[in-house]
Amino acid sequence: MVRVCEICRRPLDSEQDALSIDCGGNCWGCVGQIEADSGYEPSVRQVAGEIRQGLRRQDGTPRLTPEAPTSHPN
Ligand SMILES: [Zn+2]
Repeated sequence: MVRVCEICRRPLDSEQDALSIDCGGNCWGCVGQIEADSGYEPSVRQVAGEIRQGLRRQDGTPRLTPEAPTSHPN
């Protein structure tokens, strides 16, 4: 049985989805954004890195299906 995030409904602990780590019933994608928004420093750094990797949008919103980082510089 697949467990899903209670916020965004993405399947948890998917090997193809770096943001699907189970954080107590919600995915890291959602939890990380909430923690970063609240100013929790380790999450701010982690989320910023995931934005650079293309896992999140510029505002920290997790993408449901990870997209390859753009091949264009900047
Ligand atoms: Zn989620």
